[in-house]
Amino acid sequence: AVSSAQDFDFFYFVQQWPGSYCDTRKSCCYPTTGKPEADFGIHGLWPNYKSGAYPSNCDPDSPYQSSTINDLIESLQREWPTLSCPSSDGNQFWEHEWEKHGTCSESVLDQHAYFQATLDLKNKINLLQILNDAGIKPDGGYYSVSSIKDAISKATGFTPWIECNVDEGRNRQLYQVYMCVDTSATNLIECPVFPRGKCSDQIEFPPF
Ligand code: 5GP
Ligand code: 5GP
Ligand code: 5GP
Repeated sequence: AVSSAQDFDFFYFVQQWPGSYCDTRKSCCYPTTGKPEADFGIHGLWPNYKSGAYPSNCDPDSPYQSSTINDLIESLQREWPTLSCPSSDGNQFWEHEWEKHGTCSESVLDQHAYFQATLDLKNKINLLQILNDAGIKPDGGYYSVSSIKDAISKATGFTPWIECNVDEGRNRQLYQVYMCVDTSATNLIECPVFPRGKCSDQIEFPPF
């Protein structure tokens, strides 16, 4: 389908902490390529409206084609690992993200550009380093959401959103970090709207 104007207002660039994906009741499965690094991984780059709503599955005529991103596969395996079960090599996760979200920004980014831009964002924002420099480490300790947000805001210049989930013991923990990006997928911006969802004042940063 041909879409004339870009039909979204900004992107959420979402990274996940693998320790928090894996220590839940549901647990996780490592990719067939091996246990990922103890680092934040990409979840996705999601077109969004400033109303808070978002488009999805915009173009059934643009299926995921791994052959168009052969040169990116090694980087994707390292920076965008899949942790869902059963184990897979990542293509299912990238396919899902392309078809659900990537097809909604096709007017600006073709498939290769979409994955390349997302990898570039990951390389520009080293969350683990930023948190580590602020004394916030994946050591199973508890940290205030405000201290986590302050560290990221000071280092990047932009306010993130923190999504929590719960571990097997029902403790709230640092699960995902949302940053907002302009429609060219290159520059961070202040979020026009934040997602919803509850954390607590202090959240766990579990090891992976
Ligand atoms: P959950 O319900 O687990 O928060 O999100 C499920 C899926 O819905 C996400 O993986 C993502 O694809 C989509 N989603 C949830 N919240 C948002 C949002 O605020 N913006 C966009 N673009 N997608 C979202
Ligand atoms: P969303 O729809 O929220 O963008 O993506 C969630 C979908 O991707 C789910 O169907 C989930 O099973 C799949 N998925 C595969 N690997 C991962 C992963 O490492 N993290 C998350 N959050 N979802 C994954
Ligand atoms: P405030 O805007 O006063 O910082 O926060 C308003 C409410 O939103 C408080 O309940 C606070 O805990 C919550 N909140 C603030 N920032 C975040 C965030 O990044 N993630 C989540 N889940 N809640 C937040």
